[in-house]
Amino acid sequence: MSLPELFRHQGLFVGCLAIRRAASGMRDISVHTQAFDYATLNRCPALGEDLRCSIHDKGKPAVCAVVPFDADVPDGLQHAVLLSRNRSENYIGANCIVAGESADHDVVVRDGRLVDSGYIDALARRREAVRIDRHYWGDALLRLLRSELSASASIPAAGYFTLPLVPVLQFVAGVSQSCRVRCLAYIDSQIALIDRMLVAALQRKTSQDRDTTRELRSFNNAYALLRRQLERGVDNRSIVDQEYARNFEAYLELDAGTVAT
Ligand code: SF4
Repeated sequence: MSLPELFRHQGLFVGCLAIRRAASGMRDISVHTQAFDYATLNRCPALGEDLRCSIHDKGKPAVCAVVPFDADVPDGLQHAVLLSRNRSENYIGANCIVAGESADHDVVVRDGRLVDSGYIDALARRREAVRIDRHYWGDALLRLLRSELSASASIPAAGYFTLPLVPVLQFVAGVSQSCRVRCLAYIDSQIALIDRMLVAALQRKTSQDRDTTRELRSFNNAYALLRRQLERGVDNRSIVDQEYARNFEAYLELDAGTVAT
């Protein structure tokens, strides 16, 4: 999920910073935001009791709108993504992806080319969201942290390492007073959400939850510390470009003035 999506759904998803080693080389690092939850729940927090997405019409994450395709894969290879999904949906008996034409199915790929305009649009939106995150904070954060992260033994060769969004929020809060105030509201919402999740985990009493509970507690400790720092104010004198600050606020949807969930 992009940073604006996590902000939009601040009471529903716990956001985190995921740090990976890029396939191109062990010293290459990538950072992106994503949602974080107990793996044992095996269920998206936005999934309703009726098994429908409760935020489908309220800013559903772009990464969901591309399913069953994959925005990280070039369009020319999306048919291969579909074939691999077909194998897994066969396994669970869903039968929602079939080869050939059928009255019950829409044609989404023809002759190896994606032809469904809804999916073409969704893939474009997801790629744009990734590009804009990188533009507004991802590249800057990597420049700051790359040498430290490259040498870090915490980042596995495969998979990823997660952190609370603290470094991202520190950067965002420095852009303008409005961004600082928005970060404080986000922190409050995340602390309250994590507290609710911790209470529910205590009631479940599942031993496999322990590591995630520990990590979520550390998220809340880090957010409480950051909250105290941001309350004292931040030095944003280095942001001299007011137009940049205005664009940044629009990227965070501050002009919309609403939070969906
Ligand atoms: S579409 Fe996405 S946000 Fe909605 S329930 Fe499924 S995984 Fe969750």
